Order: sequence, then C-alpha cells, then structure tokens
Amino acid sequence: MAMPRDIAQKWVDTNQASLTALSDRIWELAELGLQENESARLQEEYLRSQGFTIESGVAGMPSAFVATYVAGSGKPVIGFLGEYDALPGISQKPVPYKEPREEGAPGHGCGHNLLGVAALAGAVAMKEAAVAGGVSATIKYFGCPAEETLIGKVFMVRDGVMDGLDACLTWHPGATNSVWSNSSSAMNSVKFNFHGRTAHAAGDPQNGRSALDGVELMNIGANYLREHVTEKTRIHYATTDGGGQPNVVPAKAQVWYYVRAPLRQEVEEVFERLVDVARGATLMTGTTFDMEFVAGCYNYLPNKAMGRLVHENLKAIGAPKFTDEELAFAIEMEKSFPANYREIMMRNPHTPRELADQRLNSTVLPLRDDLPPMAGSTDVGDVSWVVPTVQFSTACAVIGTPGHSWQECAASGMSIGHKGMILAAKVLAVTALDLVLDPAKLVEAKEEFVAVTAGQPYKAPLPEGAKPPLDLLSKVKKG
Ligand SMILES: [Zn+2]
Repeated sequence: MAMPRDIAQKWVDTNQASLTALSDRIWELAELGLQENESARLQEEYLRSQGFTIESGVAGMPSAFVATYVAGSGKPVIGFLGEYDALPGISQKPVPYKEPREEGAPGHGCGHNLLGVAALAGAVAMKEAAVAGGVSATIKYFGCPAEETLIGKVFMVRDGVMDGLDACLTWHPGATNSVWSNSSSAMNSVKFNFHGRTAHAAGDPQNGRSALDGVELMNIGANYLREHVTEKTRIHYATTDGGGQPNVVPAKAQVWYYVRAPLRQEVEEVFERLVDVARGATLMTGTTFDMEFVAGCYNYLPNKAMGRLVHENLKAIGAPKFTDEELAFAIEMEKSFPANYREIMMRNPHTPRELADQRLNSTVLPLRDDLPPMAGSTDVGDVSWVVPTVQFSTACAVIGTPGHSWQECAASGMSIGHKGMILAAKVLAVTALDLVLDPAKLVEAKEEFVAVTAGQPYKAPLPEGAKPPLDLLSKVKKG
C-alpha cells in the first residue's frame, strides 16, 4: 500500500495542470482585498468538487470562507491558510520587463494567487491521502481575504473561525526556499479625522480653525515621538485629506497612521502616546479629532517544532529545478533591479552566503534561529497567537525581486511562480500528514505554543464591535 505522504505528493503532480490554471485565473482577475469574490468562488468550487463542505461569507466578509473535510475520527483538526487579494496599480504581463496588462490596474504583486492555490492544494492532497486510508483528521482550508490591509484573518480569529484547530500551516511566495523562523511586527492602522471651522482664509481667518493645522502639528509631534521609542518601532503616515483650496480654512482633514513594533503590547503603548500627540494638536489649533480604526494585528510567533518539520520536508522534496528559459527570464529581469542590488543584498549579514551566485534559488536554505524580526506585518500573526502555526517560502521569484512589485507580479503569472507553488503544496500536505501520523510531533508543537504564549492570552486588536471595512478599497482604480 502506498504511503500517505506519497499519495499526497502524487495527487499534486497529477493535478498540476488544474492547479496552475486556477492560479493563473486568479492572477488575471487580480481582485483587491474584500472584493475578491470571484477568486473566492473559484476556490470554493474547486474544493466542493473535491468533497469539501463550504461555509461562505464567514466573519462578515463575503470573500472569506471555510472548506472542511472530515476523515475518520475527525481528530486532530489541521488548518491551511490561503489568500487571494491583489495590489492596486501593479498590473503586469508575465514578461521580464515592465509592461502592464492594463495601465494602473491591480496585479498580483505579492503572489497571493499562488499562495491561495498551494494552500488549497495542500488541503486536497492531504484529503486524498486520508481517503486512501489510515489518516484521521478534520482538514480545514481557510479562504482569507484582504491580507494586504491586514484585515481578513484578524476578523476571522476574533469571530472564532479558527477555534478548535490543533495546528495551522501556511506559506508565502518568496525568492528562496526557507522556513520563516523570525517574527514580524505587530501593527495598528488608524485614520485620524480632524474637525475645525471653515472661514475665508484672508477675509476672516480669526474665525477659522484649521483641521489641516491639526494634522500638520500632529505629524510634527509624531516625528518628535520617533526619537523616544525603541529602535524597531516604525511610525509612518500619509495625509489622506488636506483640505480643498488655499482660500478656504479646511474644516476637515485626515491623516492615516501605521504604528509597528515587535510586540503587540509595545504597539499599544506607542499608539496611546500617538493619540496624546493628536490631542495636543487639537489643543494647539482649537480643533477636535476622532479615529477610524482600520486594522491591527499581532506579531507572528513562528512555531519552531513545526518549522523543523517543514525544513526536513523542503529538503526531502527538493528545491524547484529551473530551465534555461527561466534562467534567461531571470537574467533579463535583473536588468530592472538597481545596478548594485546584489552588493547591497550580500552586505546584509543575514543573507545566506549561498545566494551570492544564484539568480533563482535552487537550494533549500539552512534553518535559522538568529534572525531579527521582519519590520513588515502579516495577519498570520493573529492566527499564530491562537494555534501553533508555521509559515515558509518557496522560490517563486528572481532573487532580488522587490516586494509588492511588477517583477513579482510577472513571476507569479508564469512557470517560475508555478514551480514554487507546486513545491509549497507538497510541503504543506506532507507536513500536515507528519503531524497527524506521528502524534508526538503535534504534541511537541502544542507544548511549545503553550510555553511561548503562557500568561499572554490573545485579545483581538480591534475596537469593541468593529466590523470589517468592506468598502476600504472600493474607490481604488480597477482598470
Ligand atoms: Zn503577501
């Protein structure tokens, strides 16, 4: 009798064409966060045809869903996280030079078309192994919308959609085959609305109270605050409404802030100080303010026990092999990177030395335990605080590809991205099977989780009663 691990991998190989077609279709659709309804429906259809039960529109989001398959006793419960949102303005053809499919339209510049399909394929491949016998588990695939705005999983976790999981697996397209063994930043994303009083800016300025002055003084305060926070804290803002025209004292103005730090607690502390800064700005300007909480998330807690399993499986299955055509694509694309990008990349002491002479990563990078937290944020963080979670990347793009770029969009829509996706699907399936077939491995992951989260129960970063901001990106150009 074939082994479950082999059955799962064989299923992925046999179904490579339909998986690639699904990924390419979602790549073409390139739907923005909370509007990925068609992408979600395509995934639901695929999973339904594979015997999964679908629950659509979970946690108040039409493009969020859960697909479930119960095998045997239904224990343990294993989750796979998928995403499918695109980014505004990154439309690109699958070619190694900049050429949009449609100028200014969204594109998959973060490879979430690959992300979702590989996670879906991991879940189905695991189910195939279960159907063949000897595997008991509940297999859940979570269709998670709006990762780019850090919304989907935060609301899903708050609403208990992930409750009852024993372990959770995900991945992210990258330029290397490696386990994410470092944390990420926790974050708050909040818009500050200032309210003043309009007046003729020359005729009776004494009667005006400028909301824009409030925004400007808040920004100045925030820029001083910057000096008295920890080194890893990041504060960034964009003025999203600065008034209409100079001769009208603006009665309304808005500034949008992100606050990031390595720990959730730290974000909350710095954010409180930022709110004080806003308060100070209103005192100085005779204005008032209120806040719109857009999103917040936790830092990512990498489960090391599961990380070791993923690393073993990456090595056992092996890095993708790239053809001469793919290498030529990489060489051509490299021309669009800054001339000294390789030098800059290798200057970073954390860059593995073996990447110095690779364009497409054809090795599995060593498991690291010494990496500083990433400055960026992910809503996988929130999942990782309620269930042991592992995340890794596979080589889906040319080494040196900037994040959220046309270059990443291009690779995500052609064979380089497809190869990484297929590897990820297999690694997800066999790692999940390892956890189920060797209960000691799952116990180890859970014990680590309990130890790391002890005394720090998850508390949703959202304000009481918050609803998903379904129209957040509704005004962005769709092409
Ligand atoms: Zn992403």
